[in-house]
Amino acid sequence: MPVSAPLKEACGEIADLAHAASVLAWDQQTYMPPRGAESRGRQMATLSSLIHERITSARLGDLMARAESDGDLSEDGRAFLRELDFIRTRLIKLPGSLVREMALETSAAFEAWVRARKQKDFAAFAPHLSRLLELSRQKAECLGYKDTPWDALVPDFEPGMTAATLRPILEPLREATVALLGRIRAVPEPDTQFLSGTWPADRQREFGLRVARDIGFDFEGGRQDIAAHPFCTSFGRGDVRITTRYDESNPVEALLATIHECGHALYDQGFRTEDDRTPLAGAPSHGIHESQSRFWEIVIAHSTPFWRHFLPVMKEYFPGQLDGVEVGDFVRAINRVRPSLIRVGADEVTYNLHIAVRFDLEVRLLAGELAVEDIPAEWNRQYKELLGVDVPDDAAGCLQDVHWSHAAFGYFPSYTLGNIYGAMIAEKMEEDLPGMWDDVEQGRFTAPLEWLREHVHREGKRLRPVPLVRKVTGRDPSADALLRHFERKYGELLGI
Ligand code: ZN
Repeated sequence: MPVSAPLKEACGEIADLAHAASVLAWDQQTYMPPRGAESRGRQMATLSSLIHERITSARLGDLMARAESDGDLSEDGRAFLRELDFIRTRLIKLPGSLVREMALETSAAFEAWVRARKQKDFAAFAPHLSRLLELSRQKAECLGYKDTPWDALVPDFEPGMTAATLRPILEPLREATVALLGRIRAVPEPDTQFLSGTWPADRQREFGLRVARDIGFDFEGGRQDIAAHPFCTSFGRGDVRITTRYDESNPVEALLATIHECGHALYDQGFRTEDDRTPLAGAPSHGIHESQSRFWEIVIAHSTPFWRHFLPVMKEYFPGQLDGVEVGDFVRAINRVRPSLIRVGADEVTYNLHIAVRFDLEVRLLAGELAVEDIPAEWNRQYKELLGVDVPDDAAGCLQDVHWSHAAFGYFPSYTLGNIYGAMIAEKMEEDLPGMWDDVEQGRFTAPLEWLREHVHREGKRLRPVPLVRKVTGRDPSADALLRHFERKYGELLGI
């Protein structure tokens, strides 16, 4: 039996409120004029307190208890209840005073972080970070944990994961990446000269829309706009928004960002109709969602077959600008591996090293084993050790990410898990679809998309993240597939 109609409707109304809040947030980042900020802030705060009230209400608790005691719930009904209970229990465990204080402190910390980053001065942000860590430790105590306080926070992003379950996945990747990086850096860097010049934004936009449509983005059920930071947001399966930004000195950045956000959007457009307005319409974790964006961005759009099809198309959009450029040159150029200071924009190989630093620091900070004032020195030491780069100042170092100013401790590993899951999924897909790369070379993406729809998208939140990965790939999460992907790709491209 499915869950009762009143319980389904109660969740439907919560989903409506959440989607309305998403419309406001999307508008804030795309079209809202500056003077709209004050009233928008109030509107969003009102909606989020309504959502909080509804989820934690006694009425919803009663409806859930009744569903539980029914006994003959279907498997979907049980997953529905499990997901709802997960969110509700976490909210109920947190006292209102702590939630309010966290909201006040994060907005102050965000302002302080913006200023501190501009002035390249970590000391100006440190007192705010200390306060957020203190509140996050209180939050961890309320939520409960076995090993270390960080474990209580990570379920907001990766349910079922802890520092101890992540280490055996992330540490071998870190070690193997450092070794691989050494081999890649020992051969000459590919030529990227032909990517310089001016690439008109309107042509970039048209080419990006063409690629998005070709890989399967449904423009009847979504649209693309411009925002300072590319993102994807959903107001329901039939209205999924992506954003991008254009840099006229770089012809691939906006395109690859578009494809990345498209990967998120294809997921959101692919949930089951019957899951609309229920807790099942979603990804089981941030890492699973990220696996979809990274699959399209990295596995597909950084591959040689993809560019065998799209390089000639790109040449039509930018007449004369890529004359004489061969597919191999192009693919080597967009796959250049070079250690850098900034996580955003890092290549796929070094990216996970940026995450490794943050993961290590966060766990120790929450446990009180690393003092806030020691962050810059520890950050810079690890960047030198893992990436071989010297950090010139805090803005290019420990102040570069917004996450800590939002107290989003536990978020970073989701990025690496996205890369890991994306590679695991791709490996299984190649097994199931032997003609997949021929299709990609012909510009046909229906088979891979349908495969993802069937195995990942339509599952929604029926399974938790790790069981879903097992079901889709037949394996436990590990970095092995990602490392095989690196070996194969850089072996082919660089002959290493
Ligand atoms: Zn993403």
